[in-house]
Amino acid sequence: MGPQEPADACATSLGRNQSSLDCPTQNGMPELDQQTEEEDDTEEQKSDEGFMGMTPLLQAHHAMERVEEFVHKVWEGRWRVIPHDVLPDWLKDNDFLLHGHRPPMPSFRACFKSIFRIHTETGNIWTHLLGCLFFLCLGIVYMFRPNMSFVAPFQEKIVIGAFFLGAILCLSFSWLFHTVYCHSEGVSRVFSKLDYSGIAFLIMGSFVPWLYYSFYCSPQPCFIYLIVVCILGLAAITVSQCDFFATPQYRGVRAGVFVGLGLSGVVPTLHFVISEGFLRATTIGQMGWLFLMATLYITGACLYAARIPERFFPGKCDIWFHSHQLFHILVVAGAFVHFHGVSNLQEFRYTAGAGCTEEGAL
Ligand SMILES: [Zn+2]
Repeated sequence: MGPQEPADACATSLGRNQSSLDCPTQNGMPELDQQTEEEDDTEEQKSDEGFMGMTPLLQAHHAMERVEEFVHKVWEGRWRVIPHDVLPDWLKDNDFLLHGHRPPMPSFRACFKSIFRIHTETGNIWTHLLGCLFFLCLGIVYMFRPNMSFVAPFQEKIVIGAFFLGAILCLSFSWLFHTVYCHSEGVSRVFSKLDYSGIAFLIMGSFVPWLYYSFYCSPQPCFIYLIVVCILGLAAITVSQCDFFATPQYRGVRAGVFVGLGLSGVVPTLHFVISEGFLRATTIGQMGWLFLMATLYITGACLYAARIPERFFPGKCDIWFHSHQLFHILVVAGAFVHFHGVSNLQEFRYTAGAGCTEEGAL
């Protein structure tokens, strides 16, 4: 159950911070800056004088003008954040974040300009925008490494490239979704589906180099595990296309689907530990890094599903440190830890050479 907003939330929020919070007007549209409010008041007085003599057609025309004016002001970036309880239903996602939400802004230009403003999505956007640029640079540097530092440069660059592609797709779909989320119901729906599909791409992409190096000398199980994770990943993407999947009631199911997809790695992990032995698996097999990565992802998913910490401090984590932001940071950290483990596996393969003389998968 969500926290109850006081009936006079506008008065409360205005009293607390008049310069950054704002309330909807009578017609449901959020107000704009103070200079605009004064202009609006004068206009409203003028229009009220003539109201009684208006025909319904003129009234409709007047209403249309006000909508146009609002859209124009949003386009110019003259909007202020609004409390949760006045958001339209399609923007109401987390009722523990009480203030600081962007109003609906049906302009991509306004949405992209809002990246540089402070609101509930600022942290969500920047964590994955910076993460995306980081993995893009790291990926470019890795792809341009000299071929002599690989046993099979072409093959290895493709499998590690699959990880980078998954990470870059996941992070870019995510920051784009958080940027345009307030555009309109239709746009938010399309981009939320891309956002969820991106998580599946990151998980599938992460499996590729890990399975390649861990089962380097057992290509058959490697191939089978790859096919299985691709099928499960495609199933997660398919389920993400259903409209109900993005609704707040399905938050736990969403976390469960992606944690389940990641945990499908338990089977190849057990196979690997049994065939290599615990000592080899934890040293050259990089199991420690894999375990740390899983811990980071699962912690992130649990915080996301349970909405911790804002559940315990409603209204205190509106802008910084709410569950979704922490989840984003843990995803970037988890992806980096995975990359570190995979590059250690790659280095081992380089020092061991292409040969497979010993018994075992590695
Ligand atoms: Zn997100």
